[in-house]
Amino acid sequence: MKLMLTCEHASNRLPASFKKAVPTEVLKTHRAYDIGACAVFRKLVRFAKPEFYCEGNFSRLFVDLNRTITNKSAFSEYHETLKASDKSAAEKAKAQATAYWMEYRTAIEKFVESALKQKKRAAKSEPSIVHLGIHSFTPELNGKVRNADIGILYDPTRPQERAYANVIKTEIKRLYPTMKVRFNYPYKGSSDGLTTTLRKKFGPRYVGIEIEINQKFFK
Ligand SMILES: [Zn+2]
Repeated sequence: MKLMLTCEHASNRLPASFKKAVPTEVLKTHRAYDIGACAVFRKLVRFAKPEFYCEGNFSRLFVDLNRTITNKSAFSEYHETLKASDKSAAEKAKAQATAYWMEYRTAIEKFVESALKQKKRAAKSEPSIVHLGIHSFTPELNGKVRNADIGILYDPTRPQERAYANVIKTEIKRLYPTMKVRFNYPYKGSSDGLTTTLRKKFGPRYVGIEIEINQKFFK
């Protein structure tokens, strides 16, 4: 089994071409990135030494690496803001964002493909690759306090993902007994995102799990 770690929302940086479109104060918020996720991700990389890892270099306001590129929500409303003031700059920024998205996704898919090829003869029940995506969520959304410390997102129709999710939960509870861990909270593991795309493309030998950490730990 090979391990892959990713962090799509690691950064709140913007490329020069897009800087004027987004107010600086927005860049400090969860809208721009997953606060705290990058630090956890880098620690995990050092600790777990995955065969492959990568993190996003730009804010999700530029392009959301965890959305299908054809999904409207992959591009934030700031692309429209830029378009209103400078159409050609907006077109260039969108093309750059698309190329950046493609480059990120291609690197990941290439690795998964090669990992599956190498492990072709392994037992059918054994996954060839386990992917952990590291994310964080806001403690409160629209006035509602979220009732979890850590969320583990997976596709409930996939038995191997359920098994890995259980192992991760058990281990977290062993280390931190008071930690409130919930499955498929605050989001569904089967929604549009990187893991969902990889499941469809690579089948059951790929196991994709997202770890969502409450940002209250990073304040
Ligand atoms: Zn995220």
